[in-house]
Amino acid sequence: MRHREIFAVLVVGAFAWAPAYAAAPRNVPVPVAKPEEELRFAAFLQDFRPDALKAGIMPATYDRAVADIHVNIRVEELNEKQPEFVRPVWEYLAGAVSQLRVDRGRAQIAANADLFARLQTEYGVPQEILTAIWGLETGYGQNAGNFNLFEALATLAYDGPRIEYGRRQFIAALKIADVEGRDPKAMTGSWAGAFGHTQFIPTTFLERAVDGDGDGKRDVWDSPADALASAANYLKQSGWRSGESWGEEVRLPDGFPYEMADTDAGRPLSEWTQLGVRKISGESLGDEPGTGAIFLPAGYRGPAFLVRNNFQIILKYNAATSYALAIGLLSDRLQGAGEIQASWPVDEAPLDETGRTALQEGLTALGFSTGGMDGMIGRQSRAAIRAYQKARGLAADGFATASLLTRILNERFLAR
Ligand code: CA
Repeated sequence: MRHREIFAVLVVGAFAWAPAYAAAPRNVPVPVAKPEEELRFAAFLQDFRPDALKAGIMPATYDRAVADIHVNIRVEELNEKQPEFVRPVWEYLAGAVSQLRVDRGRAQIAANADLFARLQTEYGVPQEILTAIWGLETGYGQNAGNFNLFEALATLAYDGPRIEYGRRQFIAALKIADVEGRDPKAMTGSWAGAFGHTQFIPTTFLERAVDGDGDGKRDVWDSPADALASAANYLKQSGWRSGESWGEEVRLPDGFPYEMADTDAGRPLSEWTQLGVRKISGESLGDEPGTGAIFLPAGYRGPAFLVRNNFQIILKYNAATSYALAIGLLSDRLQGAGEIQASWPVDEAPLDETGRTALQEGLTALGFSTGGMDGMIGRQSRAAIRAYQKARGLAADGFATASLLTRILNERFLAR
């Protein structure tokens, strides 16, 4: 995926890794950069001008976009900030799939019935999925971000950990102003450069945005129809399978081989049925074509989901599995489904970055290589956890928990 190189954790085509509530609160004075930093920033804007013009940007557009913009200290802070603790997935889901969001989503579906019917026909994406994206990205358009898009992108482009991303998006945003005839000063977004009702980033807009209300313009800021049609187009182009669900909650049998539970490990439904996997109701999974993978968002002690191809497509919108799950569950609720049935292991503390790094060090020292110690639990770390769990007779769910870390630290201590 083209954005994965930029942000390691939650990256996207059009995305929500920048939480909507990170936008600068209104009426709070934004701190001002030091004069020497402003000078460096102004020099950057001047140096960057020929690059932008070489990319085909109209000189007047560039000059208007950068007029009176400054280093944005809020953007700098958010760009540098490392998340200090991890929210457990059940807390994230409680906020993402709240009753309020469900109620508002149902009202939006009722109010936009004709539009959603049209989008369903043209793109094959259900109204509940599009509404869930709209609701999660911006609270149905309420929190689309109020940073000046060019100030935010130029701040990212001139210094800090996302220079390449910032420069590419800066140029793309200028192109949007040119192509769509939009005043650069009327382009607002999140600190990270995502904008509009469904939070596209500029390059994604250029590739995937469409005119949903037929006025000849693509305006994802002021036209929910354009934003929702663009999201539908993005999903369709990414491989959305019309008529297939994102997945569902399932029941795993006793003695289920948890090492097979991985969102990357798809199998035909018939194979899961043979292994004893059932719908949460107890019914058979059925024999639809295509594959599904078992997803355990909180490890073997929590709920289990069979996730289908469309779950992988939602991951192209936002690469966080918790996000994709929230979209799926919210869309189900919008359709009238109840809450999930299994309970969450709320006594199980998730690991923060320090804990995850310690876990990687411990596993590696015990001979289960995680292929590095970067504090990110990727495919290789999950494999190492599973190998350790198997070797110790534990449920091999590959899930990093505080209790697993404690066990490994004890084991290393006793081995000394
Ligand atoms: Ca339009």
